Amino acid sequence: MSIKIVAIDGPAGSGKSSVSKESARQLGYGYLDTGAAYRALAWAVINLPGFELATLGDKDLEAEFAYDISTDPDNYWVRVGSTDVTDAIREAAVAESVSQVASVPAVRTFMKALTHRLVARSKRPGVVVEGRDITTVVAPDAENKILLTATEAVRLKRRSAELSKVSAESVKRQVSERDANDSKVVDFMTPAPGVQLVDSSDLNFAQTVQAVVALVEQMNSKESND
Ligand code: C5P
Repeated sequence: MSIKIVAIDGPAGSGKSSVSKESARQLGYGYLDTGAAYRALAWAVINLPGFELATLGDKDLEAEFAYDISTDPDNYWVRVGSTDVTDAIREAAVAESVSQVASVPAVRTFMKALTHRLVARSKRPGVVVEGRDITTVVAPDAENKILLTATEAVRLKRRSAELSKVSAESVKRQVSERDANDSKVVDFMTPAPGVQLVDSSDLNFAQTVQAVVALVEQMNSKESND
């Protein structure tokens, strides 16, 4: 039986990661954070010799970028080679440079194949895959496709609460400017045909998770009745 994909896209600060992780837990599915791979590559550009932005497109990332990530929602880690980069990829320097890395076409092609490999490795019946282009490019045939949004004011407020030691300007760079740059490459602000919109502006965390889980359960029961 093939592994079901629940594709969740959305902008920065939409609550995508925490909602996707908790939804995966409740569904008994795996959880795959695709942004972590872009962040890890941006981390490599900053920290590893041989990873320059200008030549990333010519690199054999398959062979040279030793990326790995856990898909267990209860045990999240991200590694590049033997280095654990779980925390390092959340730093401001990475957040502020990741959009440039994500705009390299060859990088996006590599990431699409990587995502499918990581999903295929899961031992669970499904995987919640979250990112920017999952519903449109990476898994347009997914059983469930969801766009998770919230107003910009709400997203800035949520991200500020997460990054309590970071200045308001840096939060704005990490949310609004990053979204503006990312939007030049993929559209994750409007739902594509067949993508269900969940606007979390007026929902709390538990209500947002409930909305996502309900959509997946509806689809699962529809499939078993067909
Ligand atoms: O989701 P997260 O904010 O961690 O993503 C980090 C960055 O990775 C995004 O700002 C975007 O540049 C890139 N990304 C992407 N496509 C995805 C996931 C993330 O371009 N599917």
